[in-house]
Amino acid sequence: MPSQTSLSFIFGGPFAAAGQSAPASAPENSETRPDAARSLVQALGPGARALVERAFADIEGRALLDSHVHIIGMGTGGSGAYANPKLLTWKHPASHVKASLILKAAGVTDLALADEQYVGQLLKWAQEFPAPLALAILGFDYHYTKDGAKDLGKTEFYVPDEYIVRLAELHPGRMIPVVSIHPYAPDALERLDRCAKAGARLVKWLPNAQGMDPLDPDVDPFYQTMARHNMALLCHTGGETSVSSDAQRLGNPLRLRRPLDLGVAVIMAHVGNTGSNDDLDNPGKRASNFVLALRMLDDPRYRDRLYSDISMITGTSRNHRDIRILLERADLFPRLINGSDYPLPAVDVAVSPILLQFAGLITDEERRHLAEIRRKNPLLFDFVLKRTLKNPKTGVRFPASMFTLP
Ligand SMILES: [Zn+2]
Repeated sequence: MPSQTSLSFIFGGPFAAAGQSAPASAPENSETRPDAARSLVQALGPGARALVERAFADIEGRALLDSHVHIIGMGTGGSGAYANPKLLTWKHPASHVKASLILKAAGVTDLALADEQYVGQLLKWAQEFPAPLALAILGFDYHYTKDGAKDLGKTEFYVPDEYIVRLAELHPGRMIPVVSIHPYAPDALERLDRCAKAGARLVKWLPNAQGMDPLDPDVDPFYQTMARHNMALLCHTGGETSVSSDAQRLGNPLRLRRPLDLGVAVIMAHVGNTGSNDDLDNPGKRASNFVLALRMLDDPRYRDRLYSDISMITGTSRNHRDIRILLERADLFPRLINGSDYPLPAVDVAVSPILLQFAGLITDEERRHLAEIRRKNPLLFDFVLKRTLKNPKTGVRFPASMFTLP
């Protein structure tokens, strides 16, 4: 029986069961498509194919986990999702261009079918993986103010928990629900109870954009309810550029001590690897969010319940020296998990492999093969890229255990 704050508990449960038990030779069903995987790999040139084969060589057919997959939508097909109208008009060119790029990259060609097309494309790309792949799919709550009012002006998009749970029920073994419940929402505790009962074990926050302060003592009853239900928190750490934000201080990794001290397991998204914040331990000093995230991971008090995902550490705006540092921290590997932050890897400007080549983390030849994989399947591209990254000094790569379902 895994401890209730272990990764295998957090990502186990009713929705992961099918993926966990699927051996390499699992009979084909709607979720596992060996034929789709075969035809994708066969469509690649020999160099790209060899890169994919190397990325899967030590996976040995085990199920994979992508711990950070966004679902977005416009509310079509009864999803209940919402996108801020400013994303959809040229009155706000920057937001509009960003939204259009993301939707196009994620396979949306018809706004009237946006939500169905988004999920359909994601499933298709997942089916082309040469091993079973479980996707932790994320809801996204509204921005709330401290007094419990919904602030639509500060909400870029909204993805309801009901939709996330319904998708996970439709795709057991493929989709693991990660609900998003704002602690300042008046019905937050009832929603936690409801989602726990539905089998959700993870709650996702993006404080910089959603406006909750993880260090706020008024959130304690929320954390206590989470702890009672053995629910873990997947929380963005670091600066935030893909969602507009007026509160980068809320992305300070040190603010997560409060839930941890109350017994809640926490996954810091992105290992905090953008921006800097006040070093709350050394008043008057600033530190990079990455340094602060490492300080949290190094804190012996949190060793059994603090983790980090490596989603978007390869991002264009990220400091790629951080990847080298992580590759030197083999002691942390058991507490790091892979996430793609899909759809971002599908957006060309969001991940620039040429910068990773300049940083010495991949070779010129690998970059060219990765570009070929990306054109066919950006989700697979993200996976193969993470498996290809190598510390030029030590030759160390991230181990298979960071990519498999714990
Ligand atoms: Zn994300």
